[in-house]
Amino acid sequence: MIETVPFTTRFAPSPTGPLHLGHAYSAMLAHDMAQTADGKFLLRIDDLDQSRARDHWETQIYDDLAWLGLKWETPVRRQSDHFSDYDKALHKLSEMDLTYVCTCTRRDIEAAANAPQEGGPQFGPDGRIYPGTCRNAAHAFADAKCIRLNMRVACEHAIPASFEENGPDHHGKQALDVETMVSTIGDVVLARPNMAASYHLSVVLDDAATGVTDIIRGADLFEATAIHVLLQKLLNLPTPRYNHHKLIRDERGKRLAKRDDARAIAKFREDGATPTDIRAMVGL
Ligand code: GLU
Ligand code: ZN
Repeated sequence: MIETVPFTTRFAPSPTGPLHLGHAYSAMLAHDMAQTADGKFLLRIDDLDQSRARDHWETQIYDDLAWLGLKWETPVRRQSDHFSDYDKALHKLSEMDLTYVCTCTRRDIEAAANAPQEGGPQFGPDGRIYPGTCRNAAHAFADAKCIRLNMRVACEHAIPASFEENGPDHHGKQALDVETMVSTIGDVVLARPNMAASYHLSVVLDDAATGVTDIIRGADLFEATAIHVLLQKLLNLPTPRYNHHKLIRDERGKRLAKRDDARAIAKFREDGATPTDIRAMVGL
């Protein structure tokens, strides 16, 4: 008998500020799609960055989402409860010889990246593309500024790999390509001494642990998806389907950010808007 896995998606905000219209769109879209598919809608609190996460923002997330009329599965997963899982995965990748200790400061990286070199992108989905200074240096773990993934070797292990995209901007099978990943993403950070895991490593593990089959999130994360799919393959985790949705922008076409408090759900609530008004504002 073929077991069918129920459609499972999630909304994963970081409790570092108020939810704004962009979050509302993402959460409602995922919620609606789960409902249509008779599936599950999970809420996850991405409080990886403990220096910025605040309890009152987490409380407000629950409050705003409930006000919007959303219902989610319980218990809610919080990243801060799973730091040891991230560490285990990091060790696994290290044992596979796919990681190295990087001792570069931000300034070192900028200086090396500005050295004359062939043209190519300077920035990728993980920020400035790392010039590779420490790749073969065998630095001591104690001196680490961060642990990086050796992108080329990792790709050689994992590719061929691909994912299915069903969003408005890209359609169908997206195949990962070694040279593209090396030149446009580079050796991404997997962990730092004060951070159990990078965003990339943590979300891949969280999504797998909670049985997420469909990731519905903003188009700003499309470029990062190749990193996630690569990590899934390396760690023997399933690759979900992806749907990178449109971004909600302000009147000037700028995409909303955490600091756009003027578009915070809480502000609209205060001003007397209804959840139906919010749906109309984001085009749902
Ligand atoms: N916490 C992440 C964010 O808010 C989750 C994104 C994702 O992987 O869906 O950007
Ligand atoms: Zn380095």
